[in-house]
Amino acid sequence: MQYISTRGQAPALSFEEAMLTGLARDGGLYVPSEIPTMSHGDIAALAGLSYEEIAFRVMRPFIGDAFTDDEFQEIIAKAYAGFRHDARAPLVQLAPNHFLLELFHGPTLAFKDFAMQLIGQLFQASLSRAGKRVTIVGATSGDTGSAAIEAFKGLSNVDVFILFPHGRVSDIQRRQMTTPADDNVHALALDGDFDDCQARLKDMFNHFEFRDAVGLAGVNSINWARVLAQVVYFFSSAVSLGAPHRKVSFTVPTGNFGDIFAGYIARKMGLPIEKLVIATNQNDILHRTMETGSYTKSGVVPSISPSMDIQVSSNFERALFDMYDRDGGAVSQLMEDLKSGSFNVSQGALERLRETFASGRCSEGETMATIKAHIEKSGEVLCPHSAIGVKVAEEHLGATPMVTLATAHPAKFPAAVSDACGVNPALPPHMADLGSKSERVTQVPNDLAALEALVHERRAR
Ligand SMILES: *Cc1c(COP(=O)(O)O)cnc(C)c1O
Repeated sequence: MQYISTRGQAPALSFEEAMLTGLARDGGLYVPSEIPTMSHGDIAALAGLSYEEIAFRVMRPFIGDAFTDDEFQEIIAKAYAGFRHDARAPLVQLAPNHFLLELFHGPTLAFKDFAMQLIGQLFQASLSRAGKRVTIVGATSGDTGSAAIEAFKGLSNVDVFILFPHGRVSDIQRRQMTTPADDNVHALALDGDFDDCQARLKDMFNHFEFRDAVGLAGVNSINWARVLAQVVYFFSSAVSLGAPHRKVSFTVPTGNFGDIFAGYIARKMGLPIEKLVIATNQNDILHRTMETGSYTKSGVVPSISPSMDIQVSSNFERALFDMYDRDGGAVSQLMEDLKSGSFNVSQGALERLRETFASGRCSEGETMATIKAHIEKSGEVLCPHSAIGVKVAEEHLGATPMVTLATAHPAKFPAAVSDACGVNPALPPHMADLGSKSERVTQVPNDLAALEALVHERRAR
């Protein structure tokens, strides 16, 4: 299995190389050269298996010879051992044809743990075998950073630096990043928004001298291994609702397009997914693009669903690559156009997008109203991101069962939840002392040279 860049100018890599590299050297994102498929029988045989066993069968064809079956099974077992629900990703019913996939039972209470815990184990296995050390730099709108720190803290072969937008993450998200005491963890509060964090991260990757000097590795949602880990719960949930004998649709609270792109991969592998519904908050660039074909940046407006406050949706490039028949030149041109603020999706590509994806947008008021309505209707306390999914899903309900992804635990966003419905969601007992631990954080300017100097200085040698 080889991985190729969406911009067509970087060398093809193995799974392990693509995982350790993150962003391709031509600025593109790695995707598998072809998508392995699972037959009707292969999918039917997943029924009744454990999450870990499904994970093994779904991901195995993508990893090539990076690990033996035994090694890979052990990696998966370690990755999900810290989850606090036996099903890992349980489904609960909201309405006759509407289900909620709870993805918040991992160590940092957001779906990011599914990918990050796995990637931590994959990095550890790969680096210790090769006797190598890497510097991980990540950008976060809140949940990726805490999940990365939780997954990599204390590991001997990595330093981890996390850039988050100063003042724009929730108290709990910040504390999850700033309270781990491990020496290899560095939380950096950047003066700017999430798109600035993401842009500086890309700059570091495109500065090859720096990239090679520190052994830069990326674990943002552009990392293929993260997308892959997320493919698994589309299978586990669809199968428990009757796939492959019945079709299922999904609604995904979307920011960087990583989670929903994993659903797209599941569909390409043969899982009978009818529609993948993109749910956005007021930062609705993806919804506007689906409606008009014009991908036009506007400023990020901070919302009560901060993990979706994004205007440049990195993983969307992977979808475009397919919609343009895997023409790296065409994708490069779109990304070049975006530097001046926008690009237009061709009519053909837009039609293809609409065959698979639908979309909707949810305002701040609607998010609050949905949280309130659901606590009254079903007793389910939704986090603001999940509420956006539920609201948009309700606009797309039909004969096919709908699964909405609940991307975070409500206790990660207590202010928004209690404003909406008067209930103050409690943190699970294992995290109850978060507010009393001391914090370690460095405030940094939105400046590439200053950031690179800091990474050089802080990383262990
Ligand atoms: C990251 C995140 C999202 C958005 O997921 P993408 O893969 O970036 O589209 C939604 N909700 C929560 C809680 C998140 O942490």
